[in-house]
Amino acid sequence: MGKTIIISNRLPVQLQISNGKINAVPSVGGLATGMKSVHSGGESLWIGWSGLTDEETPPELEQDIDAALAEHGCAKVTLNATEVDGFYFGFSNRTIWPLFHYFMEYSEFELDFWETYKAVNQKFADAIIEKSEDGDIIWVHDYQLLLVPQMVREKRPKTSIGFFLHIPFPSYEIFRTLPWREEVLEGLLGADLIGFHTYDYERHFLSAVRRILGLEVNFNDVFVDNRVIKVDSFPMGIDYKKFRKAALDHDKNKKSDLQERLDSHKASAPDTKLILSIDRLDYSKGIAKRINAFEYFLNKYPEYKEKVRLIILAVPSRSNVPQYQLLKKEIDELVGRINGELSTVNWTPIWYFYRSLPFKSLIDLYTSSDIAWLTPLRDGMNLVAKEYIATRTDKTGVLILSEMAGSAYEMNESLLINPNNFEQQADTLNQAINMPKEEQISRNTFLQNRLERYNVEVWANEFMKALKDKSNVALNTVVAKKVTDGILQEMGKKYRAAKNRLLFLDYDGTLAGFHKDPQKASPDGELYELLDKISAQENTTLFLISGRDKQTFGRWFLPKKYNMIVEHGVWISKNGEEFKMLEKVKGEWMEKIRPVLESFVDRTPGSFVEEKNYSLAWHYRNTDPDFGDKRASELNTVLRSLIGNDDISVLNGNKVMEVKSSNVNKGRAAIRMLSENDYDFVFAIGDDWTDEYMFQELPDSTLTVKVGFQKTHAKYYVENTKRVRELLKQFE
Ligand code: UDP
Repeated sequence: MGKTIIISNRLPVQLQISNGKINAVPSVGGLATGMKSVHSGGESLWIGWSGLTDEETPPELEQDIDAALAEHGCAKVTLNATEVDGFYFGFSNRTIWPLFHYFMEYSEFELDFWETYKAVNQKFADAIIEKSEDGDIIWVHDYQLLLVPQMVREKRPKTSIGFFLHIPFPSYEIFRTLPWREEVLEGLLGADLIGFHTYDYERHFLSAVRRILGLEVNFNDVFVDNRVIKVDSFPMGIDYKKFRKAALDHDKNKKSDLQERLDSHKASAPDTKLILSIDRLDYSKGIAKRINAFEYFLNKYPEYKEKVRLIILAVPSRSNVPQYQLLKKEIDELVGRINGELSTVNWTPIWYFYRSLPFKSLIDLYTSSDIAWLTPLRDGMNLVAKEYIATRTDKTGVLILSEMAGSAYEMNESLLINPNNFEQQADTLNQAINMPKEEQISRNTFLQNRLERYNVEVWANEFMKALKDKSNVALNTVVAKKVTDGILQEMGKKYRAAKNRLLFLDYDGTLAGFHKDPQKASPDGELYELLDKISAQENTTLFLISGRDKQTFGRWFLPKKYNMIVEHGVWISKNGEEFKMLEKVKGEWMEKIRPVLESFVDRTPGSFVEEKNYSLAWHYRNTDPDFGDKRASELNTVLRSLIGNDDISVLNGNKVMEVKSSNVNKGRAAIRMLSENDYDFVFAIGDDWTDEYMFQELPDSTLTVKVGFQKTHAKYYVENTKRVRELLKQFE
């Protein structure tokens, strides 16, 4: 097992320069704590930016910095001030952050930002490539490094790469406005495992992948060329023990100044309630709306004037991004106006702090507040909500939490609100103030148990476990054996040693890729050459076996005199002779079914009906993927109820649904061909459900090969059409 490499924008240590000496101090943030079990011992390396730009780094200290970082298992990526501006303050915080938090109007689509973001992501990727080797496990973190997985994959195809997004992934409708949406998705898909906080973010991502890149998604697996990428949700927890212990110690230790003040306030007015809100000063947190809602509450329930106090702790953040400066001004003014209008001699409704407080002060605030009121308009997770609950050692306290926070999914026992609904918030504050103690305890017991169980360490370990298991899981979903280079050559050997060979080759999705217009997926020169060579060999019977109509195949292949079975086995042509009927089929049912399919075409933009001699096919490759699948299952139900006991059946192919006579299928046709002679080498290859009939019905000794990763009755699988050609070249 190789080493673990963690990569994030910032390192989990902070560099301090004093008297020309460098010191690296570990950060205390949630991520650094959570990763402790992953980032420990000599087997792990954390790569990131140190926080000092090139301009701020004295050249003579370079080596000392590296040594100080190495002591904490860290290595740095260097960035100059221009790079930090374009990559961090620019694309990360002025494009991705607002867009992914549904603030489309704040999202700036600047080509310069994007170019710098790409270049800096490449720098991070290069740092990994330099320090890693095959077999290592790499975990990339967050929205600043969306392109890194694919950049690393290109140079280190055999490493295991995980990616975790700590912010929301927006709905497709929002995401698709990004000019570089394809590049961002492709960047992420370089990973083997992509993690989100909630199922909704996961769902949005999968929908974007299907709709924008047109890739196949099966439950939470994405299929890209020869890889299966797993997408899953892992809600991030907190260091529960740390908050719990701090809260317990808090009651024993000497009181801080802040605590003295909080206590004296409580003593002076014993029936007042403290309502707490803590956030970074960010527009996604809904601070201004919350202040307005507080004013609305005081007007709706004036009996609480002088009885409740709102404490707002706003932590300075990204203060060189213009929106943050405007927001700061707006909040300053709002607090000033409301306090000015409503304060009395004994009472200031809002205590407002614009600063970052040390850990101990946070605990003072958490343990002293009766209510935590957190109203983000959009928040990837919101750890403050979890921290507040963890510190309530006597299990009292009420959490009012926005539904738009990722943590709301796991904190159902809190009072969930819509931050835009002032009426609801005013009533919920009233409910919280009057909530009986027993109810508080009962709600918080559930919450605390869950937070203790699914803490940040469990979160990190679960992600790592999923990443390590990933290759096994991928193998489990495909029971067939992968055609490795060794097996490829083995098949070639068997072929050459055989005395009489029979081959069945499916066309679409096997010999040729798919095209939006099926008529355009015509054979290329290389394919003709390959088929010419194989079919010209002695003692070799090659059949193209397809659901296609005889006109198209006649045009493409009749002059070549290849043997063909078309329309799933209705028609056969050998050695360039005209097509003959292989199965007796009836076509009367077509009159009944055609209008049904046509009505689906009318209601499903992008779909169309292909009429063959004895079957009807509804194609939906060019429809919206989700909508197309939904319509396909609807059509399936309609058709099955219509056809009843008739001699017709419905075949679900690759983005095509075909209605045809039941007594016709590729398996039956293949068996008939097999019985015509004595063969000691039988080979069948195909990509969709219609080919499964061959895989099932041909004798056990047949070499059956599926194209793609779906469940199959075939013994082997190959990844794509390119690999099919490599395999067939063994038979040349
Ligand atoms: N926090 C802090 N100092 C403060 C206020 C808050 O260190 O003065 C911490 C708080 O304990 C929490 C984090 O900042 O762990 C905020 O995380 P959250 O998920 O709520 O929001 P984010 O800032 O990540 O959007």
